[in-house]
Amino acid sequence: MSADPTPHELIRFDNVTKRFGDNTVLDNLCFSVETGKHVTLIGPSGSGKTTILRLLMTLVKPDEGVISVNGGRLFPADEKEVREVRKNIGMVFQQFNLFPHMNVLRNVTEAPVRVLGMSKDEAAERAKGLLDLVGLGDKQDMRPTQLSGGQQQRVAIARALAMRPQVLLLDEVTSALDPELVAGVLDVLRDIARTTDITMLCVTHEMNFARDISDDVLMFDAGRVIESGSPEKIFSDPEHERTREFLGAVL
Ligand code: ADP
Repeated sequence: MSADPTPHELIRFDNVTKRFGDNTVLDNLCFSVETGKHVTLIGPSGSGKTTILRLLMTLVKPDEGVISVNGGRLFPADEKEVREVRKNIGMVFQQFNLFPHMNVLRNVTEAPVRVLGMSKDEAAERAKGLLDLVGLGDKQDMRPTQLSGGQQQRVAIARALAMRPQVLLLDEVTSALDPELVAGVLDVLRDIARTTDITMLCVTHEMNFARDISDDVLMFDAGRVIESGSPEKIFSDPEHERTREFLGAVL
């Protein structure tokens, strides 16, 4: 297979292998995500899903293979190319990781001002629009500790979007939340999926959410994609015995 992405492929993994010691976490993995699509990774704990997001954030490096984003190389690549390609990617983590000493507005404006060189006024105007989008337009002067976990996670979503990434990586963004706060965060993400053209790559245990927003679902087992397809196909008529077992346990 050629390692060059086609124009509509935003993310492409070609024969990517990642090992931690003797543990082969991703095994010759190949998959791609087309521009504007919402793709969800499901599968048992430990099957390598989060490692894929961490590779895209260059928090870890693969042992073998090629990773491309928006036509540029993330691996193998020199530092300059990695910096450029990384600008296309935003991520929301399980733990929201907001800056505790900054108010909500500043959490959202900090990176656009410092990294993109945006003026403070422009960054603030955009941030207010994004805070409205996540339902927190009236909370811009609060500190993160004055907000609920769900509100903090919504600020983290606004913060990621403020960098205008082409792809948003979502790593189990509701798993650290109290159950009553989950729906609000998922509703915001459903809205973003519906109303923006951002590409999304999500790891989630929320199967109803995955069913709602996904164009494609990839089922992982032991570092490989064992089955992929539309949510209707994967959730209603899975082909693989492991997929049936997994969905039987979580649904
Ligand atoms: P998932 O997201 O599907 O639960 P992960 O990608 O988090 O799976 O983990 C896959 C495997 O990689 C697990 O066996 C995990 O223990 C291992 N792993 C992940 N990160 C590290 C690390 N930094 N050092 C060693 N092992 C790791």
